[in-house]
Amino acid sequence: MSVLVVGSTALDSIKTPKAENPRLLGGSASHAAVAASFFAPVKMVGIVGKDFPKRYMDLYRKHKIELSGLQIAEGKTFHWSGEYETNMNNRRTLATELGVFETFSPNLPESHKNTPYILLANIAPSLQHHVLDQIKNPRFVVADTMDLWINIALSDLLKLIKRVDAFVLNDSEAKLLTNEDNILKALKKIHRLGPDYVIIKRGEHGSILSGPSGLFIAPAYPLQRVVDPTGAGDSFVGGLLGYLAAAKGSIEKNLRRAIIHGSATSSFCCEGFGLTQTTKITPVDIQNRVAQLEQMVKF
Ligand code: AMP
Repeated sequence: MSVLVVGSTALDSIKTPKAENPRLLGGSASHAAVAASFFAPVKMVGIVGKDFPKRYMDLYRKHKIELSGLQIAEGKTFHWSGEYETNMNNRRTLATELGVFETFSPNLPESHKNTPYILLANIAPSLQHHVLDQIKNPRFVVADTMDLWINIALSDLLKLIKRVDAFVLNDSEAKLLTNEDNILKALKKIHRLGPDYVIIKRGEHGSILSGPSGLFIAPAYPLQRVVDPTGAGDSFVGGLLGYLAAAKGSIEKNLRRAIIHGSATSSFCCEGFGLTQTTKITPVDIQNRVAQLEQMVKF
C-alpha cells in the first residue's frame, strides 16, 4: 500500500564544525519520502521553484517517488540554512527563506485522495490540515512538527493533533508543548490532546512509543561518526510509515518493528550531508542494521 508524504521540499545549506555544504537537497518531505521509498510506493506533495536543480528531481525519480503532487512554481525554492556545534545535538537556524512556500496551497491530485497511509511531515499545521481535509478514509495518519509551530501556530497545531492517529515530536518539543519536564507526564498530556500513539524522538538516544499497549523504548543505531544529522527525524518517520504500509496485519502489531526500521533508516541519513548517504543505500543495508539492532536489545 502506498504512502502520501507532504512537507517541505527544500534546498539546505548546512555548516558543521568540519565542513560546509550549500544548497543540498533537503526538506522534511524529501527526507521522509526517500526513507519511505525503501519499503513502499510513495507520492510526494510539495512545491519547488524554477531554481530547483534537475539532478534533485532525478534523485526523487531514482527512488520512484510519484511527483504529480509536486508543484513547480515561479520563484525560489524554500531555503533553510543551519549550523551545528561540535556537539551535534545543538543546532541553530541561520536563515529560513520561504520562497515559493509563501503562497503554497497543497491541492492533491485526484489519484492521491485515497492513499491509505498519510505522513504530514514538518510544515505549517494549516497546510497539514489542508491536506487532511482532502483525504478520504485514510488507514493511518501520522503528523510530525517542530518547535516553531508550537510557538507561532499552537491553536492550529492542537486542532491537528486531534485529527491524527500518531503524533511525532522530539523530547524538547514535547516539553515545550506540555510545560512538563518529565517525559511520562508529557506523554500523558499529549494523549489527552487526541492521538492513540505518541512517538518521542530522542536523537542518538532513540525514541519512545506510547500507545494502547504501553511503552516501547527503541534504540537509535549507534554510530561512530555523525556527519550531518539534518533530516534524521524525517527519515525516521518516513522509514517507520513506509514499513507500516508494506507490512501485513494490524498497526498495533507492526508498530514496534516499524519504529526499529525507522531507526535503522535514519542512521544512514546521519552518515552523510543532506540525503547524500541515504540515496546511496539499498533495502538490504537497512535490513542488516535492523538485524544488528535486534541483537543489541535482546535480553
Ligand atoms: P530535522 O533535522 O528532522 O529537524 O529536519 C530538517 C529539515 O527540516 C531540513 O531539511 C529543512 O529544510 C526542514 N525545515 C527547516 N525549517 C523548516 C520549516 N520552518 N518548515 C518546514 N521544514 C523546515
